[in-house]
Amino acid sequence: MNCPLETREDAQLLLDYCTRKLEPESVAILERHIAICGACLEFALGQRAVWQALDAWEAAPVSQDFDRRLYRRIDAQVSWWSLLLRPFRPPFGMATLRRSLPATAMACLLVMAGILVERPVVSPEPAPNQMEQVEHALDEMEMLSEFSRHLRADVPDSKLQP
Ligand SMILES: [Zn+2]
Repeated sequence: MNCPLETREDAQLLLDYCTRKLEPESVAILERHIAICGACLEFALGQRAVWQALDAWEAAPVSQDFDRRLYRRIDAQVSWWSLLLRPFRPPFGMATLRRSLPATAMACLLVMAGILVERPVVSPEPAPNQMEQVEHALDEMEMLSEFSRHLRADVPDSKLQP
């Protein structure tokens, strides 16, 4: 036979051989050609490698409790509380906070803290570490309100300038 790589129709034949769609007679003919044609051998081997990789990939099973275990790990590693409370842990000292934080931003922080503290009421049984974080948020709210009291005391005309 002629080399199937030289014409488009016969190249399809070679592809069908690689995907095992060919009749046994055609397979025999093609294999005789592949045995003497380096180009077709290379093509067939490359195709086989691709199909074997695909077979191996499809064979990998997903365990039945995959979702459950995934969500458990997400819960354990990234609690949404820690994500939400992260802005309340300023990396700088109170002196810096006092100079840089306008009163409106402070009010926003207090409102956000209020929202955060109310949230656990919605969830039926908050985890122990969530309770800890709520306490932490309460501590920080206390710290913030004390701070704004000082701020007001410092500014006689009650216009809160940073
Ligand atoms: Zn060939």
